[in-house]
Amino acid sequence: MNWWVSMPKVELHAHLNGSIRDSTLMELARELGDRGLVHFPDVERVILKHDRSLTEVFKMFDLIHVLTTDHETVSRITKEVIEDFAAENVVYLELRTTPKKNVSKGMNKKSYMEAVLEGLRVVSNVEVDIFSEPNFDCPASAGIYARNNECESNGTGKKKIYVRLLLSIDRRETTEAAMETVKLALEMRHLGVVGIDLSGNPIIGEWLTFLPALEFAKEQGLLITLHCGEVPNQVEIHAMLDFLPARIGHACCFGEEEWAKLKSLKLPVEICLTSNIRTETISSLDIHHFADLYISGHPIVLCTDDSGVFSTSVSGEYSLASSSFGIQKREMFQLARNAVNFIFAGNKVKQELEQVFDLAAKTLE
Ligand code: 5GP
Repeated sequence: MNWWVSMPKVELHAHLNGSIRDSTLMELARELGDRGLVHFPDVERVILKHDRSLTEVFKMFDLIHVLTTDHETVSRITKEVIEDFAAENVVYLELRTTPKKNVSKGMNKKSYMEAVLEGLRVVSNVEVDIFSEPNFDCPASAGIYARNNECESNGTGKKKIYVRLLLSIDRRETTEAAMETVKLALEMRHLGVVGIDLSGNPIIGEWLTFLPALEFAKEQGLLITLHCGEVPNQVEIHAMLDFLPARIGHACCFGEEEWAKLKSLKLPVEICLTSNIRTETISSLDIHHFADLYISGHPIVLCTDDSGVFSTSVSGEYSLASSSFGIQKREMFQLARNAVNFIFAGNKVKQELEQVFDLAAKTLE
């Protein structure tokens, strides 16, 4: 097996609808085409086009959302995405998705998330740990925790992947819709929801629209990650850093002042190399901020962002960073291992992941 695949990895920035297999998207598009709901050749052309600007990426998401609107499909894509990450030895995945309403399919934000959970439950070729620790004093979690332990002690001998969920607020949403997402996350904490993400087209929406919901989430103990600095908006970048999220994603359009602030705050950055290059938010890898952050020992985690939309994989991102920045395998392994420090799950999971990396360190030598 390819070394980059065999190495255990932690994925902290993956959007569900951006991580769908091309083959599944094509199948869904063909079905809708047969029913006259989309024009298949047009959709096929969009799916197969791999170089997309940031604006085109958001058009692509609008198209994907047309193809994945019902509960059954949401469960299916979730199952497949988990299987795909597990197949390349991702041992801990924080999967993020925007809870959606779709009146014509009887879908609301809660039922959307229930469909995601159903997708997690039906994964069969790998053991999925979604709530092995009761993070909160929640009576509902006690029963689930016990059941899950039983499952672990059954000793299935299957590969195991820890999955935790982040609910995304889309920048197109109102304050009320953002608050609804946060309340749903709180309701689902005992089901593996650990935090909130702010994402969506960075040229849409105002930081102040989302702030009340994000502050409420933080007060309630949810951990927050923000898409920050995908476009040059220095006022927003400063406001986001002042908010003190637990992590940020991208950080592409930072100036000297913003770098200084980020570094003094030691905020972990989710780095998505292929995504940044494909969307041209960074013009080439030799000027990517990965190098400076890595050399200065700033906390960073390599991630895919949208493995489907950008045709990449976590292993591919590690291999790319190694070859582009001249970093040896041993150091790349350490980089993957450091990511455990920045996960949103609690200490029990961190300790178990440390053991996974200890074991791999012996076998991969
Ligand atoms: P979903 O939340 O529907 O599962 O995943 C797709 C959504 O994630 C997109 O509609 C968009 O809101 C968000 N997203 C995916 N990739 C990116 C990205 O590179 N930048 C930003 N800002 N948002 C993204």
